Amino acid sequence: MSAPASPPPVSPEATDDPLSLAFAAARRAAAEGEVPVGAVVVKDGQIIARGFNQVTSTNDPTCHAEVDAIRKACQVLASHQLDGCDLYTSCEPCPMCLGAIYWARPARVFYANTKADAAAIGFDDQFIYDEIEKPLAQRSLPMQQFLRDEALVSFQAWADKQDRTDY
Ligand SMILES: [Zn+2]
Repeated sequence: MSAPASPPPVSPEATDDPLSLAFAAARRAAAEGEVPVGAVVVKDGQIIARGFNQVTSTNDPTCHAEVDAIRKACQVLASHQLDGCDLYTSCEPCPMCLGAIYWARPARVFYANTKADAAAIGFDDQFIYDEIEKPLAQRSLPMQQFLRDEALVSFQAWADKQDRTDY
């Protein structure tokens, strides 16, 4: 009687564990010289999109893994919202991605590394969280309001529009 065959080696790319796929996407980011963060979007048990950091390779400061995954998932779903989806990311989302996630409205978010872990490798987004807490006049980025009445014209036109898509 021969010994039972060993199970085949499991490739992270072959598993259906979403966080493992997010880790694989993070490794891809690292291989391309990017901060190693990866994300996947899952719906009904299916991986519908994978994203990874591509900030420096695309000269796009918004191309974080979560934003990349959200953009791709919304294209797949032909929707501006991720109804019934779960987002898995290898790291706790930064404030920008967290905002994008709230706008996309997935059902749940799962993450592995914490923002403290990210800060420890030089990817410190805590300062943005700190800035949000401050009054405008105390922030490091100068912001000044003007021409409000002029801008309100297009807001009023939108408010009056009968066939608009709210979100
Ligand atoms: Zn981010």
